[in-house]
Amino acid sequence: MSKSMTIVPPAKVAVIGLGNMGQPMAACLSRAGYQVAGFDLSADARRKFTAAGGAAASTAEEAVSGAAAVITLLPDGKIVRAAIESMKQHFSPGTIIIDMSSSAPIGTKSLGEELVGAGFGFIDAPVSGGVKRAIDGTLAIMTGGDTKTIDRAEPVLQAMGKSVFRTGPLGSGHAAKALNNYVSAAGLAAAAEAVAIAERFGIDPNILVDVLNASTGRNNSTENKLKQFIISGKFNSGFSLALMAKDIRTADDLAHQLDVPAPLADEVAAQWDDALKVLGSSADHTEIGRYSTTKR
Ligand code: NAD
Repeated sequence: MSKSMTIVPPAKVAVIGLGNMGQPMAACLSRAGYQVAGFDLSADARRKFTAAGGAAASTAEEAVSGAAAVITLLPDGKIVRAAIESMKQHFSPGTIIIDMSSSAPIGTKSLGEELVGAGFGFIDAPVSGGVKRAIDGTLAIMTGGDTKTIDRAEPVLQAMGKSVFRTGPLGSGHAAKALNNYVSAAGLAAAAEAVAIAERFGIDPNILVDVLNASTGRNNSTENKLKQFIISGKFNSGFSLALMAKDIRTADDLAHQLDVPAPLADEVAAQWDDALKVLGSSADHTEIGRYSTTKR
């Protein structure tokens, strides 16, 4: 691969979706020297992006025209497909589309094959680490797709992440991401239940968290979510319950599509789907703490 084919600053990069993740990830690209054009359907998101120093395009066409890479950070794979279909006539030949949303892997595979067949590059590169690590540029990124295309996109990904994993063919990044969030959600729900039981027994919830964090029950949620968002009652992590429920459902659907028995994933997916019905689409995912410990 010639070095000139890699996408390095000051190449133009379009970021489609300027929400909780898109905005700070676009800021990381700007800091690395890329010429970033952001676009979001929401005028409010575009305004916030501009207020934070970003260059918001007024149309998707303007954002993607002449871009060496087009990054999507949208709620799900169906929305990604629709957005790409409406923009693709404006992509330059050889543009690499990088879907960094948490999309469903089987849909990603077919979308990617269509785009590659049309002469574009496509990789899936979902992220983990939440808003805080998106701001710091220290996300974990899992990439699926053709190795040469990932090589070309690597500097763009490095500007937003600390670890860039290669998980295999198209869709494998999205599969890894959904499975990660299933494990994360199960750990969060278990830890929140443990805290509620401890409290009823008379143990201070903060002390129980300290015990877990010094013991074998420790996980990312015991370290970074219980005190910060659940016990404090803040419930403002910046990752919605609707998006987490979608990710767990994606992991559980994958288990069924591949005919792998996953009874715990069935339970966790059903629990989070119900929590979404009860708490509504504006709930933060950490509100599972108050859902799962409320008697119904
Ligand atoms: P968000 O809801 O804050 O932002 C999504 C943005 O997409 C919104 O601003 C919305 O207006 C915009 N949008 C929707 N359809 C569009 C379209 N067709 N064209 C342009 N813009 C459109 O979501 P988020 O938290 O930023 O998450 C984005 C993706 O990243 C999701 O797939 C999510 O699962 C994943 N993710 C989120 C987090 C997190 O902590 N928030 C962490 C890892 C991964």
